[in-house]
Order: sequence, then C-alpha cells, then structure tokens
Amino acid sequence: MKLIVQKYGGTSVGSPERIENVADRVLRSRDQGHAVVVVVSAMSGETDRLLSLAAAITDTLVPRELDVLLSTGEQVTIALLSMALEKRGCPARSYTGTQVHILTDSAHNKARIQEIEDQRIHADLAAGRVVVVAGFQGVDEGGNITTLGRGGSDTTAVALAAALKADECQIYTDVDGVYTTDPRVVPDARRLERITFEEMLEMASLGSKVLQIRSVSFAGRYNVPLRVLSSFEEGEGTLITYEDENMEQALISGIAFNRDEAKLTILGVPDRPGVAHQLLGPIADANIEVDMIIQNVAPDGATTDFTFTVHRNDYPGALAILQQTANKLGAREVTGDDKIVKISLVGVGMRSHAGIASTMFEALAREGVNIRMISTSEIKISVVVDEKYLELGVRTLHDAFNLAQPGTV
Ligand code: ASP
Ligand code: MG
Repeated sequence: MKLIVQKYGGTSVGSPERIENVADRVLRSRDQGHAVVVVVSAMSGETDRLLSLAAAITDTLVPRELDVLLSTGEQVTIALLSMALEKRGCPARSYTGTQVHILTDSAHNKARIQEIEDQRIHADLAAGRVVVVAGFQGVDEGGNITTLGRGGSDTTAVALAAALKADECQIYTDVDGVYTTDPRVVPDARRLERITFEEMLEMASLGSKVLQIRSVSFAGRYNVPLRVLSSFEEGEGTLITYEDENMEQALISGIAFNRDEAKLTILGVPDRPGVAHQLLGPIADANIEVDMIIQNVAPDGATTDFTFTVHRNDYPGALAILQQTANKLGAREVTGDDKIVKISLVGVGMRSHAGIASTMFEALAREGVNIRMISTSEIKISVVVDEKYLELGVRTLHDAFNLAQPGTV
C-alpha cells in the first residue's frame, strides 16, 4: 500500500462531469490498495472570475481580503469532489487550508508554507477515508486566510506529500507529461518517461509551463517523487526525480524556448571598476529582471561594450533607463532589439560530455540560423536568435540530437 497525493488542476475539475471523472480516478487508485489524499484547484476560470469581481469593486485591492475571496474557488471544488466520492460509496472528507492547518507566513497573495499539521489527515486515512484538501490556500499565525500565488495548488500538493511522507505526488493536468519540446512547434516531440528536478527547473523556467516552478524546487528539496500525468487519458506520464546513477542518462532531455526576450546593448562605456554595477543597478532598482549578460572589451582597450537581455515587456523601460545611464557615463551609443528569442538545450548528461555545444552550433549554422548571444551552465546551453528563426532553430536541434527517439544519443 502506498500513500499517494494526487492534485487535479482547474481544467480537470472544470465541470460537474469532470469532477465525477476525477472521483472515478481517485477510486481506481484506492481500489489498487493505495491511500489517497487529493488536492484540487478551483474550477477552471473561477479564480479569474473572482479577480474580476474584485476589480469591479476597487482598483486598490486589499491583499488580505483578496485572499478571503480567492480561497473560495477551491472550497467549492473540495466539497463537490467529496460529494462525488461519497455518492460512489467512498468515505471522503474535505478540508480547507485553514482546517488542516496549512500554516504559512503572512505574505498575502504570495504566502509560503511553513508547516502542515499531519495528524488529522493521517487519522482520516487510517479510518479509510479519502482526504480532499483545498489547494492554493493556507492560514497565518493570526488566523488570516492566505493564498500561495497563481498556480499554487501544485505547491500545496507537494508540501502535503512532503509532510505526509507520501510515496509519490501525482499532478494531473491537461497534458500527459513533460515533452522534449513544445509539440506545437515540433510535432514529433516525445513524452519523457523521466526527467530530473534540475532539468525540469530549467525547462519550466524557460516556458514549458506544466508545473508551478516553485513546486518543483520544493519537491526537489524534500525529495518527493513528482509525476505529471493527464486526467483525461491513461498513461504513465513523466516522473520527476533525482538523477539515478544506475540508469543510463540521455545526453539531452529537451529543448526549451522563450519567445518574450529583448536585448539591449550599450557601446563604448569607459572601462573601469564599477561600470557593470552602474549600468545594471538602475535596471534592478526598476524591478526589471536581467537574464543573460555579456561584456566585451572594445579594441581601444579603454572602453567596453555591454549586452544584456530582459523580458520583452520590460524592453521600453529598460531602454529608457539605459539611455539615461549612457548619457551620465558618456557612453557612445545604446541599441536594442526586441525581436529575439532564446532557445535552450537542457540535459544533465551534458556534464559528462564534451562537444554538445559544437554540435548545437554546427546544426544551427547549417540552417543559416545566426546566433546572437550564447550562455551556458552545467546542464544548459542557451542561444539568442532572431525571432523568425525560433521554429526552425528548435526543430533543427530536436533533429540534431535525435530527441524524437528515446534513449541516449
Ligand atoms: N486557482 C488558483 C489559480 O488559478 C491556484 C491553482 O489553480 O493552482 O491560480
Ligand atoms: Mg493551475
């Protein structure tokens, strides 16, 4: 008998029929002899609907009251799912975050879980009940309702699985796993049977939006095996765990990409200690996140060129700030480009293999894709290319590393 935490997202519980379908799935796991704790999101669209109600009343949202409002979405789902389970003769109990004492800090709308009381849940499980817990919400020390930020039910599920020492945390969603890349771009993208936490973090932060990123790092920290699977189709989904030394590791797990990039360059900045800080300090002060950074020494030796990337939405703001800094420092010129994208090759197998980067660059060159910037980490190589090359670039790399075929390259 295993203890499994299952989380069903908004689309999976989007209608009464779908909630009934979830109840059937939960029962199937129980019939296999497992103890099941279920975490649910609000029915799809509900959280947005609640937000728009608040916006119809005021533009100065009071964070505490917003949490009281938003937490109602999940409360609806836990009750309906418990009813559907009871109707099937399965004893079930629903609990809000407050009731099971998911203790968080007091940062309304983005609270962090600190502790979960597990006795009550264990007692219910021992009595043969399915426990249904509202995702996305908790309670602070003062008894105020808090929420964890959009997509927070994933984190609730992982935190519960960690607290209960569950054998697996299963995230049911509308896709059947994590893919080598976006199947809308590469039709023969393949579902991965497994991927490491580290790789998933790189893939998620780069746009494979299957899981709330915070939940993945949480699962990694507490070593909770995570499985992403479809609530509509049968299948094993994708298991996210630590690297298994005994398993042959694929060289490359996937290709992530990010369409919303922009780059800025400042040319001819006097080269002296502190310039990097002088350039990027004001950008950080404006709360603009910088991703890649490249500094080059100009041929004259006295000045330097500096390029960095930001999210496309931040481009106009960053450009204005950089222009001001340029004037102050006496730099020669500021240029920019907001028609760029980032493509990244991700794989823990890269650590032990040389030559991945050159295979990557060669493949792109063969297709005439010009690389504008490059950055690398231990398990990732990213290139910035013109927007028009996104699809071609991703497809080319998917082919070059043979990702449609399982196994090592
Ligand atoms: N209902 C919340 C949201 O829509 C939390 C979740 O679905 O995970 O963001
Ligand atoms: Mg969600």
